[in-house]
Amino acid sequence: MGETIFSKIIHKEIPAQIVFENDEVLAFNDINPKAPVHVLIIPKITEIETTRDIDPKKHAALLGALYEAANKIAKDLGVSETGFRLVLNCGPDAGQDVYHLHMHLLGGRKMNWPPG
Ligand code: AMP
Repeated sequence: MGETIFSKIIHKEIPAQIVFENDEVLAFNDINPKAPVHVLIIPKITEIETTRDIDPKKHAALLGALYEAANKIAKDLGVSETGFRLVLNCGPDAGQDVYHLHMHLLGGRKMNWPPG
């Protein structure tokens, strides 16, 4: 997999407002936020481009780590009780722009359904 903007953030080659980091995942504020809280949570391993590339056997612990981080960040940023949305865009029709798996955590406002 080629280098993406997110692998550059992981390697601290470009700056980001990091809100959480551990050995498996990194989370930082989206540069173009769509809600008062808009955090991207990404695995530090770089070979997973989309949800299609998830191998349940190989990545089970990583998926747990992504959701554990999301719940912690939602709590830390004060949207755990009011509610938040987790979004993983996969492929062109979903509007995926960066081909490094990432979870959007959106909160701090009332969300519409269905999404646009
Ligand atoms: P997606 O459309 O699901 O691939 O989401 C990619 C997201 O990455 C978008 O919401 C962008 O605003 C965000 N983004 C792109 N470049 C950066 C960056 N340098 N720092 C933080 N967020 C970024």
